[in-house]
Amino acid sequence: MARDSQKTKFYKTERAIFTGLNGKYPIHFTTDRQVQAYVNKVTKSLEWKRLGGRQFVQVVHIRRDNQWARGWGNKVEIPPWARSKSVILHELCHGLTYDNGLLTEHHSPSFAFLFRKLIAWEFGDETRRQFDLAGEALGLKWNPDSRILKRLA
Ligand SMILES: [Zn+2]
Repeated sequence: MARDSQKTKFYKTERAIFTGLNGKYPIHFTTDRQVQAYVNKVTKSLEWKRLGGRQFVQVVHIRRDNQWARGWGNKVEIPPWARSKSVILHELCHGLTYDNGLLTEHHSPSFAFLFRKLIAWEFGDETRRQFDLAGEALGLKWNPDSRILKRLA
């Protein structure tokens, strides 16, 4: 059996914590406008700034539901199936990782470290602890780049 990549481990951990019994992410918003309001709330938060987030992030309208959610730079694409807080935080975390100067790291340990901070902010420490337990069982790594640790010291 091939060993899972960090990316696969990340996806599995995320699904274990946030999807329901039907395997789907809970839908928290019904329009792009609501998603944008949530994104604004996140990017205006002190926690976002503390973690090194610098940018206003624009929600790009995606009508098709069969598309991946994506995040890069100061944009996120959130198809209707992905209008779920944890998925939106995941996509925002790509831009946040980028803001930290870690240009090539997509689901790296630093990305996982920052994502865990965002979920603790949104869902609380207990959810973050559950994420850690699931991630540990799957071999997920979340030791951050030294630049992130220096910022938070
Ligand atoms: Zn991703």
